[in-house]
Amino acid sequence: MHFGKVIGIIGGGQLGKMMILPANLLGFKVHCFSNESGSPATIFAHKSVIGDYNDELALIEFAKECDFLTIEFESLNTDALKAIEKEFPHIFSPNEYGVFVTQNRFREKKFLLENDIDTPNFAMISSEHQAINFFSKNGKFILKTVENGYDGKGQYVIEKEEDILGSEISFSQGFLIAEKFVPFTLETSTILTRALNGEIVYYPTPINIHKNGILYKSIVKRGGVGWHNKTREIATRIADILNFVGTLAVEFFVLETGEVLVNEIAPRPHNSGHFTLDLCNVSQFENHIRAITGLPLIQPKLIFEGEMLNLIGTDINLALNILDNNSAKLHIYGKKDIRSKRKMGHINFIYDEIST
Ligand code: ADP
Ligand code: MG
Repeated sequence: MHFGKVIGIIGGGQLGKMMILPANLLGFKVHCFSNESGSPATIFAHKSVIGDYNDELALIEFAKECDFLTIEFESLNTDALKAIEKEFPHIFSPNEYGVFVTQNRFREKKFLLENDIDTPNFAMISSEHQAINFFSKNGKFILKTVENGYDGKGQYVIEKEEDILGSEISFSQGFLIAEKFVPFTLETSTILTRALNGEIVYYPTPINIHKNGILYKSIVKRGGVGWHNKTREIATRIADILNFVGTLAVEFFVLETGEVLVNEIAPRPHNSGHFTLDLCNVSQFENHIRAITGLPLIQPKLIFEGEMLNLIGTDINLALNILDNNSAKLHIYGKKDIRSKRKMGHINFIYDEIST
């Protein structure tokens, strides 16, 4: 019987919080390891440990009290995850390898190429000279940090040669990834949950619109979309090769020709899957909890068409305007400070009339 068992989550952000809510409903206790007290997940956790994500011993100590362990962000010390896998076999999902590959853009690209999965052209560069060379061959491109980038952070769009020389880009930290700018017609993502026995369930496919490198909204319509069999097939291969357990998201660029390129892989529930909380019969978070604890997965179904709108920085003030809108489901993450480019919450708008 699983009731009362402890799930540990490494990371204290909103994804952790949204995992805790269904975990509690299913009868689990959740412990949270965060580097910041008062962060969204720590407010809801049964117990929180505040520590450094690089502190291997602290993470092992944390794991000791957990029956199951998972993460809600990938930029952490995988040596600690390896040590946990060794000391407490089978408690950690998705698995150390999946986190190791996807937390570093270079390893991720290498993994995709080795498995014949298309991704934008790229090169590893470590000097302005190499950047200029890449520009002369590829034209417009994006420079990305290899690790720790998210929500468009650590990215520089290079439209002309002067952007390389005139920017604040520094090669002092080592290599950056130069990635050809893709003139995509749209962005989408495949979100799936994979169980320990390899069973996979898929969520409806959103169209994702970004502004300044940050997800702005995800739109979800009934009936699926033309390219989604292709993206599901690719995401399935990725999940199978990584032997992934839990919810995984793969971001794609769809080209005019109908070709799809993998942009990046998230080894966890994803912002573009937040619509599942109010538009589907089961959320990406509930199935994640089910997968990592060995409970049966629920087959996702779209109940309502709609869209998810992120509340970034001071957008959170918009929340006040929709409180009396009965087609708007508001999610506030509970972060202590409003900062520009920081995800503060989201709204799931339901297009269909809610049947009463
Ligand atoms: P993050 O980890 O910050 O989400 P991404 O690599 O997904 O980083 O980039 C964020 C967004 O920037 C993408 O969703 C896309 O809109 C844009 N972008 C990133 N790489 C490219 C590219 N090679 N060509 C065109 N747009 C890109
Ligand atoms: Mg992204």
